[in-house]
Amino acid sequence: MIDLKQATAPQLFTLAPVAAYQHRMVFDLYPTQERDPLLALIEEKQRSEQQAAQAVQDALGEFIGRMDKPPTGKAPPAASAPQQTPAPKPLPPIAKEKIDRLIVVALDPGHGGEDPGAIGPTGLREKDVVLAIALELRDRINARPGMRAMLTRDGDFFVPLQDRVRKARRVQADLFVSIHADAFINRQARGASVYVLSDGGATSTAARWLADKENAADLVGGINVKNRHADVMRTLLDMSTTAQIKDSLRLGREVLGRIGKVGKLHKPQVEQAGFAVLKAPDIPSILVETAFISNPEEERKLRDREFQERLVDALEDGIARYFARHPPLARNRQL
Ligand SMILES: [Zn+2]
Repeated sequence: MIDLKQATAPQLFTLAPVAAYQHRMVFDLYPTQERDPLLALIEEKQRSEQQAAQAVQDALGEFIGRMDKPPTGKAPPAASAPQQTPAPKPLPPIAKEKIDRLIVVALDPGHGGEDPGAIGPTGLREKDVVLAIALELRDRINARPGMRAMLTRDGDFFVPLQDRVRKARRVQADLFVSIHADAFINRQARGASVYVLSDGGATSTAARWLADKENAADLVGGINVKNRHADVMRTLLDMSTTAQIKDSLRLGREVLGRIGKVGKLHKPQVEQAGFAVLKAPDIPSILVETAFISNPEEERKLRDREFQERLVDALEDGIARYFARHPPLARNRQL
């Protein structure tokens, strides 16, 4: 028995063995109410310091040309025949030396709980469809060696937008994929869309993260030395978000290319907008509008298990292709 300071919404999941790790069980406790303010402040402070460190790391990684090194404490990968072509597979495998850490994909089924999202002409609810797709996609990703999926919600409950981003950052997700179904007054509107954060979002996002940090520092009431480096922080966050958008566009194009083979596309290009769930400065993030639930024909398709499966195929394929072309940086992960 564990005594807890407050009510929680526990989530339990397991991670299959990978590399040096054995079977692992992860027990995540999410508070159902606002956290202890002092604890929250300490955590926020630690987080902002981690963010700063991560932002520097990301920015440097981008500029040094994604130089990589094996994590400490593990034997470096065999250097023999690095130029050899890998065995033919439907998808190019991720370079072997990069697989020694787990790739984590955050899946974000939109809406949930009291927020049904859009509702189709015959009553199909967006929150239900996108959850079904996300659960299936989770299983597919978990079946891939070296990859794990994390859901921002795995049931019919409401999760605030910033909590969705927070959950992804907490597990140091390599990608964030938000899944939705579109709606419009005109029932003729149809097709899938993929969104990434808008370019204008970089500066405003940097400003917001910086503002959060400064607010936290104000609450301490003392002089925060780090505030003197606000300009540096702003620049680094800006750079980090710009890099995020660049990677998100790459991911978005891969996914759009696959999803365009399943059904119609609403727009032939990846679109950019200031969605709140896309604003983690350090995680490539996309929002996929799978189809128009407001279009009677597409509502019928969204309800169809087979169509859902094909959407999942496309999402899985797009994600795998992105990682094959852009292997994530090695880093020491604590899970
Ligand atoms: Zn939605």
